[in-house]
Amino acid sequence: MRHPMVAGNWKMHGNRAGVAELLEGLRNMPLPRGVEVAVFPPTLFIERAVEALEQGGISVGAQNSAIQSEQGALTGEVAPEQLAEVGCKLVLIGHSERRQILGETEEVLRRKFAAAQASGLMPVLCIGETLEEREAGKTLEVVGRQLDSIVDEFGAAVFADAVIAYEPVWAIGTGLTATPQQAQDVHAAIRAQLAAKDAEVAAGVRLLYGGSVKAANAAELFGMPDIDGGLIGGASLNADEFGAICRAAGN
Ligand code: PEP
Repeated sequence: MRHPMVAGNWKMHGNRAGVAELLEGLRNMPLPRGVEVAVFPPTLFIERAVEALEQGGISVGAQNSAIQSEQGALTGEVAPEQLAEVGCKLVLIGHSERRQILGETEEVLRRKFAAAQASGLMPVLCIGETLEEREAGKTLEVVGRQLDSIVDEFGAAVFADAVIAYEPVWAIGTGLTATPQQAQDVHAAIRAQLAAKDAEVAAGVRLLYGGSVKAANAAELFGMPDIDGGLIGGASLNADEFGAICRAAGN
């Protein structure tokens, strides 16, 4: 049985006052039973989030981590072992903003994925197609290639300790959401691709949907058989809205 997960990606949002208010809202938020809830603040606020949330059952993740697990000479980066030491549990790998705007390649993402797992962080691998790729009928090819980049190198078993987020690039921050059926079709294909290598791992891995999820559309998306929760951007910056999305995953 897969426990649903709802994860909030704060991206590069927040100042000290705003983060304090959001953390206070999250601390007071009623959590649904059986749903794993996580937030991914900017690196600067990770430790503060851990302190505020660790008693309350909300995990804290990082939006990025370095290509090597241990600390060292890598200016501007944060090592997975440093993140783990301050209580961070998860890390996003391959968010489309990092792939597209910062030019992160599959090679870099493979190294980040392995480094994160070596330090005990759970990677949340983000994959998804652009609008042009969808319109060209290449969605499954693109998503399949992004998944295989990890599977071919490390084997399907690494997904026993990882999460996959399907995030169509055209739906991120645009207000456009994949229909529940569109998302389900891709999730089912991702699970089948993994099942061809390792049926047990495929049956257990959580597949999150991300892309303009709100309280108003969450229940319908999370009701699909292969959608095990969501990766939430904009709507995770409001504790009430995020709480409602978390409760939708518990129903
Ligand atoms: C995201 O940043 O991962 C995301 C899904 O953003 P939004 O919910 O704002 O579309």
